[in-house]
Amino acid sequence: MTQMVNTDVPRWSSITTKQAIFTFVIALALSIIAGLIELAEDARVLREETREQTLRLISLVEGSAAEAAFQLNPDLANQVANGLFNGGNIRYLVLKDDFGRVMVEQGTSEPERVGALLQRLFGDITDYRQTLLYNPGAGADPQQVGEIAMTLSVASIGQSYVERGLLIFMLGTIKALGIALLVVLTFHLLITRPLLRVYNAIAAVNPRQPGDWPKPELPVHRNDELGRLVNGLNNLMQAFQQGLDQRDELHQISTIDGLTGIANRRRFDEFVHQQWQHALRTQEPLAIIFIDIDYFKPYNDNYGHASGDDTLRAVGRTLAAAMPRTTDLVARYGGEEFVCVLPHTDSEGAQAVAEKLRQGIQALDIPHAYSGVAQQITISIGVASTTPGSQSSIEDISELLCLADSRLYLAKEQGRNRVVATNHSYDHID
Ligand code: GH3
Ligand code: MG
Ligand code: MG
Repeated sequence: MTQMVNTDVPRWSSITTKQAIFTFVIALALSIIAGLIELAEDARVLREETREQTLRLISLVEGSAAEAAFQLNPDLANQVANGLFNGGNIRYLVLKDDFGRVMVEQGTSEPERVGALLQRLFGDITDYRQTLLYNPGAGADPQQVGEIAMTLSVASIGQSYVERGLLIFMLGTIKALGIALLVVLTFHLLITRPLLRVYNAIAAVNPRQPGDWPKPELPVHRNDELGRLVNGLNNLMQAFQQGLDQRDELHQISTIDGLTGIANRRRFDEFVHQQWQHALRTQEPLAIIFIDIDYFKPYNDNYGHASGDDTLRAVGRTLAAAMPRTTDLVARYGGEEFVCVLPHTDSEGAQAVAEKLRQGIQALDIPHAYSGVAQQITISIGVASTTPGSQSSIEDISELLCLADSRLYLAKEQGRNRVVATNHSYDHID
């Protein structure tokens, strides 16, 4: 019988889900760590870039600023200041002439209110001061004409830093998701799905025929751990099957009589109890036939034990052949005694069968010069039948067996080579 097993694993507790969560968390943690390292490095790069950019900017306007300071030209100074203000993260800018007079001033020199982290990262690269030199030409030395000073805005630098940081984190998260998805997909296809197939195959095993289990074919995994798992399971199933076959074989052997090849006493005991229970349930009659070879001791004594065995075999064979119904059982009860169990058979029917058996054995015509009843081997038979649980006085199987046995005794008493199916003569003898 195939066992029905629910093979559905709840989605939330499946290996794939666990694997997905686990991989994503690890990938996210790694990408956060990598992001932080990248951010620290990015701060260093941004500082460098800002400084270089600002110095480049100053060197770009340096000539014009010196010109403005030399000419004391406020318009030119304003143009320079506007150009600078538009080009960078400048918070405050002042251009002075050589006497320290302010020519142009833009922005505010008030201290900036920014976060401590940004202040710490970029606070030390905000101040720039450049002396303006004017070159009059014609081999004369350049002369100092003024000064330009400016302060960068930490908030402005910080904003671009935060924007870049966010981008780094977003890319990191997308990368983590992508990696997790890839790992999960690979894991699912490579492990979870084939494992589920193995599980389904095991769940479908017929415990009576484990050798015929639907061994899953996993071509991709032929030489890996899963392939070995399937092969190991297959070996186990085959060994299991072998054990069952051996058990059945042993059971078969243990129920057969070694000499005659028909059922033995053990099989008879088992069978007759089953049939008694069955007859009880169905209220059908059950008949027992007890058989004993007549004068078998003198036969043995005169023809030898080997001939005795041959005769026992011939009798067993003949009895079995005379009872072709598969529901009937012929067994060797012990020594030269045999017994038949006939389900669904009343006394008349069993008596007819018994008479057929008696005639069949005599018809074998096995010479027996030392028999007191005939010239050949003969048998005596006691027959009993009852419907269990009916009005009859027989209450259990042992009583029915006793009755059949006592009638066999009666058959012996009455002269052997006969069938006795009633107690009348027995009563008479009593
Ligand atoms: P009765 O007509 O009263 O039955 O006389 P009997 O000589 O047959 O008496 P009984 O049934 O007591 O004899 C049983 C004999 O059957 C004893 C033994 O010599 C013989 N016998 C029992 N088992 C075997 C066996 O396995 N092989 C052989 N060859 N003989 C057996
Ligand atoms: Mg006997
Ligand atoms: Mg006998």
